Amino acid sequence: MNASLRTSSTSSALPISSALRISSTSQTPSTETGVSTPKSAEPVTFLEAVRRGIAPDGGLYMPVEIPKPGTEFWSSIAKQDFPEMAARVLNLYLSDDLPFSTIQRIAEDAFSFPVPLKALDDTTYLLELFHGPTLAFKDFGARFMARVYSEMANETDQELTILVATSGDTGGAVASGFYCTPGVKVILLYPSGGVSPLQEKQMTTLGENITALEVDGVFDDCQRLVKMALTDLDIQQSKALSSANSINIARLLPQMLYYIHANAQIPGPVTFCVPSGNFGNLTAGLLAKEMGMPKTEWVAATNSNHVVPDYLNGAEYKGRATIPTISNAMDVGNPSNFERLQALYGWSDAKLRSTLKGGWADDEQTRDTIQQVYEKYGEQICPHTATGIFVSEQLRDRNHPNERTWVIPATAHPVKFSDIVEEATGQNVQLPERVKECLQKEKNTIKISTDEMEFKEWLLSH
Ligand SMILES: *Cc1c(COP(=O)(O)O)cnc(C)c1O
Repeated sequence: MNASLRTSSTSSALPISSALRISSTSQTPSTETGVSTPKSAEPVTFLEAVRRGIAPDGGLYMPVEIPKPGTEFWSSIAKQDFPEMAARVLNLYLSDDLPFSTIQRIAEDAFSFPVPLKALDDTTYLLELFHGPTLAFKDFGARFMARVYSEMANETDQELTILVATSGDTGGAVASGFYCTPGVKVILLYPSGGVSPLQEKQMTTLGENITALEVDGVFDDCQRLVKMALTDLDIQQSKALSSANSINIARLLPQMLYYIHANAQIPGPVTFCVPSGNFGNLTAGLLAKEMGMPKTEWVAATNSNHVVPDYLNGAEYKGRATIPTISNAMDVGNPSNFERLQALYGWSDAKLRSTLKGGWADDEQTRDTIQQVYEKYGEQICPHTATGIFVSEQLRDRNHPNERTWVIPATAHPVKFSDIVEEATGQNVQLPERVKECLQKEKNTIKISTDEMEFKEWLLSH
């Protein structure tokens, strides 16, 4: 514990609070919500925020005050390996809830795969975030969260049950992250026929404490069933239920770490250009910046769901209906984490717009970028990563091309979207060994309908 990092008001240290009180940013222009969002929800500890997922007032949890560890901290962690650095950064948020030795053990365990920076040219790097078990950056959040849950499960005798509705990547990451976690049971709900074959195998072949429910419906049905269960009193009484939703603070915090890791390896100024959908990945990066991480600038890249880039370029923020694209993990019309971005900049449009730039790529531009990157650098990239490359080329300062290094997080392995990547590059995508194994296994699911009563009865009897 580092006492100097504690913020002003901490007689009883409570580092996390629901800074946000509105449930829907889409209904109200941001200028008005700014008036109605005092930090009045009761502050809670980190672990309590993890357990609750969402604040009772419907807001998302954010740190009451952002720790600002100073220049010495930033230069000292540059020399450390990823898990060591991760433990020291996370300790700034978790030190009142968990001993440092536990945080170290969690970090070593959760971040046990490489996080390479790959140069495309002198001033463009891919930050490869897909070397975890399910081949997308969501492994960072899910693996960390699982280990935090495991610590919580140690404290009680009651088994924790985690419900997740998924449209693809999240289910696999959560299943893999929580696999064989003692005291924790995971129930995944996914739309039958609505996920890719690889995604389905990643969710349905593990067994043990992971149960996959194949819902005869669409993603929205899965979400509705989960919401019902999380608020149903009979179910609450019989089970300790929780959700591993992407808005959970435990999934957000570890996503700071790879930016810190990358920035420390690059001597000069860096621009991170982040492929974004629900904006958790980008919010985490800006959190690191606001902690004092030196010399970074930030760009949001989206697909045709470009409500945030439009806002950054001066339009009023208004959530829209989702448009399906080939970078489907970014198909979000009204990103939940937008309110976190607003909170981070004191609900000031001017501050947020001066900190963050934005751009977007449509499907054709995305496909062209996949092809061009392959022709120019011999590198296959996934469609999400391609939106980041496209926008980085759009926004780069042509008069001073070598002034900054651009880093684009490669959010998924190209094999997760092999049909698109193979079509654009004319080359097969190599399947990593660790995935071959899971593709050979038998899928094991329980089929359910979209009926709430039926799901409730199933839950109560399992
Ligand atoms: C989830 C996801 C994204 C979007 O990340 P957000 O944090 O929701 O902005 C981008 N790419 C891939 C591959 C993803 O799985």
